[in-house]
Amino acid sequence: MLDHPLPWGILTGVRPSKVAYAYLEQGKSLQETEQILKDFYRLREDKAKLCAMVADKERRLLQGHTGTDVSVYVGIPFCPTRCSYCSFGSHDQRAYDKWSSSYIEALLKEMRESANLLKTRRIQSFYMGGGTPTTLTPEGLKQVLSAADALCDFSALREVTVEAGRPDTITLEKLHVLKEMGVTRISINPQSMVQRTLDLVGRRHTVEQVKKAFYMAREAGFDVINMDFILGLPEETQEDVLYSMQQVQALKPDNLTVHTLAIKRSSRMNEEGQAERLLVDVPETIDQMIGIAAKAAFEMGMHPYYMYRQKNMAGNFENVGYSMPGKEGLYNIEIMEERQTILAFGAGGVSKVYFPQENRLERVPNVKGVEEYIRRIDEMIERKQKGGLAVC
Ligand code: SF4
Repeated sequence: MLDHPLPWGILTGVRPSKVAYAYLEQGKSLQETEQILKDFYRLREDKAKLCAMVADKERRLLQGHTGTDVSVYVGIPFCPTRCSYCSFGSHDQRAYDKWSSSYIEALLKEMRESANLLKTRRIQSFYMGGGTPTTLTPEGLKQVLSAADALCDFSALREVTVEAGRPDTITLEKLHVLKEMGVTRISINPQSMVQRTLDLVGRRHTVEQVKKAFYMAREAGFDVINMDFILGLPEETQEDVLYSMQQVQALKPDNLTVHTLAIKRSSRMNEEGQAERLLVDVPETIDQMIGIAAKAAFEMGMHPYYMYRQKNMAGNFENVGYSMPGKEGLYNIEIMEERQTILAFGAGGVSKVYFPQENRLERVPNVKGVEEYIRRIDEMIERKQKGGLAVC
């Protein structure tokens, strides 16, 4: 139950754990940090505890981190259909099929011609997201991952992640390609295990496909599998969330990421005016759903290790990543803490150059549209070369 009108008090930023992290860095204990979050920032007790716990975990996981290592991101902005709540720059694969091979060509060119920027850098992690990277054919996946391997040498990295995402794109053949190419972590994202909800938000896959994809991934040898869920999806109840969590507990993934729905202006749900009619937007209900998901994660032996907030979130709550001990995704922490350079390739990718001495970030964005990205690829490459990556 809400015992404070604003669970996050006066903290309005999207990265609350950064605030706690800074206090821990200054030598404050976990308890002192928690107290500051409660007294000064007016966080509700459970949120102060969560925030301090996450920051403490992040610090332990980033031990030895110098701020000079880099990570590499590759974006594949296609999905089999567009979910009604989606605000990412993803494109419906059916309409963009004809662009797929030119997109890969442009992407490979961008990676090849930016290799000089990584020559002297130690690369920590590789992350391929989107969109849904597994919308690519097995050959397409192999092409992109081979180019990325040539750029970063997967065998020397701490983690290589591919967001398989939509279960309707996952086949055993693609999973074998990922495994052979050295991918160490994947995501299979149901968002809900309630079929009615999946149909309502236009995901066009079944709960059975989620389970099948999960078992196939285990069979292919993946021992770090994340599953994403969204709380507050249209017409969902606490019972639905409990049901989804029971289903996920039976699968036993290694990571669980629990989002609270955030509807942005660019989403189909908002454009079609469904948001107000369909959404669960009662803060108490979302609050209880968060409690159900957190309990399920703890029961599986997981702990929260990264978190962030977004604008327009249902109930103004948070997104939390849980992990089994030792299976945390470092890239997820780096992107939240913003203490590392991330070189991003592909349409919509935003490279972030970190200057450790000044504790400052400089953004170098690529254009979002697929056609525009292909057409302006030389300009994207030039932006990277000029963007401070070469000197930081
Ligand atoms: S799978 Fe993710 S990126 Fe793709 S349309 Fe749905 S929400 Fe957007």
